[in-house]
Amino acid sequence: MIIILKKNATEESISRLEALLQNKGVKANHIAGANQNIIGLVGDTSHIDISNLAAQECVEDIKRVQEPYKNANRKFHPDDTVIEAGGVKIGDGSLQIIAGPCSVENEDQIMTTAIACKEAGATMLRGGAFKPRTSPYSFQGLREEGLKLLIKARQETGLPIVTEIMSQSDLDLFADIDVIQVGARNMQNFELLKALGRCDKPILLKRGLANTLEELLMSAEYIMSEGNMKVILCERGIRTFETATRNTFDLSAIPLLKQKSHLPICADPSHATGIISLVDPMSLAAVVSGADALEIEVHNNPKIALSDGGQQLTPDMFKATMDKIKGLCGYLNRRIG
Ligand code: PEP
Ligand code: MN
Repeated sequence: MIIILKKNATEESISRLEALLQNKGVKANHIAGANQNIIGLVGDTSHIDISNLAAQECVEDIKRVQEPYKNANRKFHPDDTVIEAGGVKIGDGSLQIIAGPCSVENEDQIMTTAIACKEAGATMLRGGAFKPRTSPYSFQGLREEGLKLLIKARQETGLPIVTEIMSQSDLDLFADIDVIQVGARNMQNFELLKALGRCDKPILLKRGLANTLEELLMSAEYIMSEGNMKVILCERGIRTFETATRNTFDLSAIPLLKQKSHLPICADPSHATGIISLVDPMSLAAVVSGADALEIEVHNNPKIALSDGGQQLTPDMFKATMDKIKGLCGYLNRRIG
C-alpha cells in the first residue's frame, strides 16, 4: 500500500500517521520525491481500513498495490485448489456438471429429473429447497422436506447434491448435503459466510447480482478466514443496462478469476441468461473459458415449474447439450466427472 502525502503536510500530522501505522503493525518507508512525498507500507496491510487512513490530515491519496484477499489469492497459493465433494473432484482439470431443477417441488419431479440428468451424463444434482424469491407470495421451497427428497434422489442416482442455504440458523439441516450453495442474494451476508467458514463442507459461492470480482473474492475470503478453504466460485451473470437477457453473463470473469485465484470456478448459464435457447451455447462457451463446473437447471416439465420455468431445460434438451459438451471435452482432452 502506498500513501501519498499532501504537499503542505505538517511534521506533526505525519508523526500522528506514523504512530497509527506502527499501531497497525506495518512498517512505513518514506520516499521523498521531487514533487511529492510518499510512504510505502511494508507488512500485512489486508486488515488496514483505507478510509481510516484517508481521514488523516496529511493524506492526499492511497493506492493498494496488493489485493486485500490473501487466502483466495493465487499469488500466495500458486497451485489450483481441488475440492472433493461426495466422491467427485472439482478443480482437478475435470469438468463437473451440476444439473437439476431450480426448486425441489415433489418426489416424482426430483426423482424423474435426477434420473434423466444422470442418464444424460450429469455428475452432481442441484435443487433448491430453500428458495430466495423476489416475491414473498411465490413458492418458497419445500425447506427441510426438500432436503430429504434430495437425499433420496442421491440414494437413487449416486449423484452428490448441491443446494442453497439462506440462513445460518438452518445449518444443522445441511449436515448430510455434499455442497452448500450461497446464492447471489446472500453473497454479502457476512454472518452466513462466517458461519459457513466454521463448517467443513464445500461451499458454492455465487457472485452477487451487482458485485465486482474483487467483492466476490472478498466474500470467499470471509469463509476462508474462518478456516474453511473449500470454496468454489460461481459466475451467474450480473445486472447491467441490458434487458434482453435476465442477467449479463460475464464470461471473461471465468479466466480472470482463474488468474486471480486458485479456487475452482463454476459457471451458471441458466441464471446468467434466463433464456432456454442460450443455455446450450453459453455452456459450451463457459467450458472453453476454463470453467471447472457448470450448473444447469433442468426440469422434467419446465412448463409447470414452480420457479424459473423460462430457463430450465427439458431432459431432452439437456441431453443434446450434454452430447455437445462431451464432444467439446473430447477435443479439449478434458474428462467429465
Ligand atoms: C439458484 O441457483 O437456484 C439461484 C437462486 O441462483 P442465484 O442465486 O444465482 O440467483
Ligand atoms: Mn433458478
